[in-house]
Amino acid sequence: MGKRVRPFGVLLIGMVIVISGCHTAPDSKWQWYKGALHVHSLWSDGDEFPEVVAQWHRDHGYSFLAMTEHDRIAQDDRWIDLDEDFGEAVAEGMTTDPARLPRSLQKRANRVTGAQQMRLSTLDEIRPHIEQPERFILVNAEEITDTCGKKPVHVNAINLGTAIKPQHGPTVVATIDNNLRAVREQSESLQRPMLAVVNHPNWKYGITAKELAESHASFFEVYSGDPSVNHLGDDRHPPVERIWDLANTIRLACLKRPPLWGIAGDDAHEYGDLGMHRMCPGRGWVKVRSKELTPSALISAMNRGQFYASSGVAIRKIRTSSIMLKLEIEPDGGAIFTTQFIGTLYDPDLVAEHGYAGAINPGRIGTVLATVYGRQPSYNLTGKELYVRAVVTSSKPKDLPTYRGQLEQAWTQPVHCIDLKSRG
Ligand SMILES: [Zn+2]
Ligand SMILES: [Zn+2]
Repeated sequence: MGKRVRPFGVLLIGMVIVISGCHTAPDSKWQWYKGALHVHSLWSDGDEFPEVVAQWHRDHGYSFLAMTEHDRIAQDDRWIDLDEDFGEAVAEGMTTDPARLPRSLQKRANRVTGAQQMRLSTLDEIRPHIEQPERFILVNAEEITDTCGKKPVHVNAINLGTAIKPQHGPTVVATIDNNLRAVREQSESLQRPMLAVVNHPNWKYGITAKELAESHASFFEVYSGDPSVNHLGDDRHPPVERIWDLANTIRLACLKRPPLWGIAGDDAHEYGDLGMHRMCPGRGWVKVRSKELTPSALISAMNRGQFYASSGVAIRKIRTSSIMLKLEIEPDGGAIFTTQFIGTLYDPDLVAEHGYAGAINPGRIGTVLATVYGRQPSYNLTGKELYVRAVVTSSKPKDLPTYRGQLEQAWTQPVHCIDLKSRG
């Protein structure tokens, strides 16, 4: 999204960027902060109170949480009918436990229907009880829940001041861009950084790689813990990770624009029954390297690419330059790590003279350039790479997998060294 221009290609020449944890002298203030950027509560269609959702994430080692409610921020006066909005949670016996109910809970009868209602706490009401400096913060957020025809176009907007209505558009690309523009305009108006993420492109196969490439999105979900998002694609649609490579090849080879960066999230809606087919918390997250735990610092770090996406693998250090991509992976018991360096090599024949739709040879896109085993994998760039990225796969099976055979992974951001146009 908009305010940022990534002069990455130019800056990388002759320069080494180290993205590392707090162990690294002399930069001892830098830390990895774990964050959830896609989560729902009873404020939209999640099945738990926001207090419970916040406490779950704090208890599970997260440092920041953005509750991305559909088309609203948890900041107004909102009452829910127990019969309708709350029915499923009550039926499962989750939040009827008095010990888990928020102390601030207020009840009343609906004046029209007589149904019992509960008032939901706002983020500002929850913050004094859950936030702690350098330990845990809540970030205002919304999932702008748009459609284009029958295709869902969902954009998470993080660190918003006020909710943004779906902006709509005649095409999927225009729909994405109109929503990104609304976030950018609010960011400029309120003078604070905001993050916009295009969610789950393969959910209902709403967004193609070409559409993602042509949009002005900077961030998208490369992994979602929602089991229904078609992470692996099907006979007619590529896997989400492949979409990343297709889109970034189009961006870099044809549009001369910065590549997309990938986040992982949960799209969590269900907090009681942690089953494989449920939309549970704790499957995907981001780790952001920042000097302080504030929304502005975290978003600024993400805009600089100082983060990675994970479904379980922890990375201690990421070192990038125009000639190298090197990782140091945190040990995890006896787990064995395999790192694939994936990229597209530049080739003058890669793009046909007239347009690019269908002109790029799919066999040359997002290929495995090297496979390295162990905790310190590295790749030396040859100068032919449009980009290269690393995906680390552990031998450890994923708890609550979203697909059969899933192993824990981490995805680093693509490194490239070509001149780019400014983001328009
Ligand atoms: Zn969504
Ligand atoms: Zn969602």
